[in-house]
Amino acid sequence: MELEEFRRRGKELIDWIADYWQRIEEFPVLARAAPGELRAALPAAPPEEPEPFAAVMADVERLILPGITHWQSPGFFAYFPANVSPPSVLGELLAAGLGVQGMLWATSPACTELETHVLDWLVGLLGLPERFLSTGAGGGVIQDTASSATLCALLAARARAGGPAPDLVVYGSDQAHSSLAKAARIAGFAAERLRLLPAGAGGRLEPAALAAALAADRAAGLRPCFLGATVGTTSSHAVDPVRELGHLAREHGVWLHVDAAHAGTAALCEEFRWLHDGLELADSYCFNPHKWMFTNFDCDCFWVADREPLLAALSILPEYLRNPATESGAVIDYRDWQVPLGRRFRALKLWFVLRCFGARGLRAAVRRHVALAREFAGWVREDPAWELAAEPPLNLVCFRHRGGDERNQRILEAVNTAGRVFLTHTRLDDRFTLRLSVGQTHTERRHVELAWRELRAAAAVVG
Ligand SMILES: *Cc1c(COP(=O)(O)O)cnc(C)c1O
Repeated sequence: MELEEFRRRGKELIDWIADYWQRIEEFPVLARAAPGELRAALPAAPPEEPEPFAAVMADVERLILPGITHWQSPGFFAYFPANVSPPSVLGELLAAGLGVQGMLWATSPACTELETHVLDWLVGLLGLPERFLSTGAGGGVIQDTASSATLCALLAARARAGGPAPDLVVYGSDQAHSSLAKAARIAGFAAERLRLLPAGAGGRLEPAALAAALAADRAAGLRPCFLGATVGTTSSHAVDPVRELGHLAREHGVWLHVDAAHAGTAALCEEFRWLHDGLELADSYCFNPHKWMFTNFDCDCFWVADREPLLAALSILPEYLRNPATESGAVIDYRDWQVPLGRRFRALKLWFVLRCFGARGLRAAVRRHVALAREFAGWVREDPAWELAAEPPLNLVCFRHRGGDERNQRILEAVNTAGRVFLTHTRLDDRFTLRLSVGQTHTERRHVELAWRELRAAAAVVG
């Protein structure tokens, strides 16, 4: 593709994306593709001769779109959102065009410094503890995902405890994200060194349960190492009591990592800062702008209060990467803050989003989503056929029809098959529970109303 064609096709592609967003409500939110359908339609081998770009785009329409679940549809209420916005997509495109590899400060100084700067900005914007600022002993880094952040936190915790050892123990609740168990497995912790304590009332990790587990392990000659607490669990948005857990962690020399992958964005607004009560006791923290902060996947922001253990765990300097800036000690080399060596210029899209929305724009969007979720919860509360499974603290509503598990399951299937909205489920109190997660960039009141209408209509039909 010559440069002139790139200019033309690029402009057409931006138009295509804008048109897609405009017509997105015409598509069923959940893809209707059958397993193997796309592969059967694709040629067995790649083309020998170059094909015109128009032919590729024709196949995007014909073959790819039917296999897309439309995460950017305002009728998307499933899982947690992965919302995007025009500035974020433009930032992503620019990062691709610059095509830099930001593994070292020296391999693209702006890539490192913009990242450090934007993460320091976010400490202020979210009201996070100042210990996370890069100007002190700590600092922030962009990871691909919260899963990677948890793994890095665990590796740092283990380094602080003196390195791998069979007597180190990892703690969390059974409501913690599965990435905690996965991190422990990857890091080589034996299954019997992972304590996923049964959550108490409202899905929260009880400090008393943790205290008992810590005491029992100490008595057995084991060394408590790492606690993964959650602010906004994936299942029901439960918020662990970080302050009390933090005091226990301090007392036992345990590294406290706080995972606020989805809910963390809410702290943009003063009235939701209670979420982070006690966070100054945490050794590390992460949240995902790629969930609820209008920044396309992937972008997880991860902070540590003390960067030394992280660097001790992950820093390796081979001869071929030696350079004067690194030797001077005056720069950050983010390859030492993550598992892979190479890294993308992710700060660019985040910077675009922060500047084009402004803090005010971001706060307004968060408040709108929370208000819509609360309104929906009100409708559920007022309808005698339905009930809330938990009071929604933010923008996730867990609820169910009073007709039992099977009825709820059939309601969910009917609604998702109709395709105007898409919801998913969880199990709470051992009952099938529907989740309405309000966080898509363009979700308005009419879409939440549509979801409620669809649900009630389905309940009538499935009987
Ligand atoms: C979504 C989620 C994760 C996993 O996020 P990734 O960025 O996909 O790894 C982890 N923790 C919580 C609480 C989540 O909601």
